[in-house]
Amino acid sequence: FVISATSGAGKTTLSNHLLKVFPNLVWSVSATTRPQRKGEIDGKDYYFLTPQEFEKRIAQNAFLEYATVYGGSSAKSYGTLRKPVEMAISSGKSLVCEIDIQGFYLIKKNYTGKVVSIFIKAPSLEITKERLLKRGTNTLQEINERLETAKEELKHQNDYDYVIVNDNLEIAKKEIEEIFRKNL
Ligand code: 5GP
Repeated sequence: FVISATSGAGKTTLSNHLLKVFPNLVWSVSATTRPQRKGEIDGKDYYFLTPQEFEKRIAQNAFLEYATVYGGSSAKSYGTLRKPVEMAISSGKSLVCEIDIQGFYLIKKNYTGKVVSIFIKAPSLEITKERLLKRGTNTLQEINERLETAKEELKHQNDYDYVIVNDNLEIAKKEIEEIFRKNL
């Protein structure tokens, strides 16, 4: 399963819900060169790598996909490691990758197994802005950048198998649950 979402769409809440409802799902822990945030655990939230370590893994062909993702003013590398994906699939489990649109297109192109893709968005850009302001973790400039990114991302939503509009969290939880039930 590939999940992409616009900023503030509630993907973390929905993903945590899925892991609770379907205990056999495996979460794909991505590698990244971005700094570890407070509360994040190395190996659980991400594998935090130096740019050199990331490059080494690219050279080793260790990534199923990797991309440069822009956060604020800086570009960081993010990638899905091949090994945990293969391990989960060979043991008959399904894996959830929470990745950006570039990663989705790369997986669609390069991965030969079954891929179910889900795009999560807020009801509107206005509501996205309200949510990000309320969350209070970003500066106004960052929020505006995220809104610009969201505008671009929305252009690709129809390439996904499913689109969830997260207006009411309880309804969105049921919708994503249903998608997983149908495709597991
Ligand atoms: P954050 O730094 O806020 O955790 O994530 C920033 C962005 O990176 C999100 O859009 C997230 O979906 C994307 N991302 C996280 N892991 C990966 C990955 O392994 N591959 C790709 N292509 N994007 C990722």
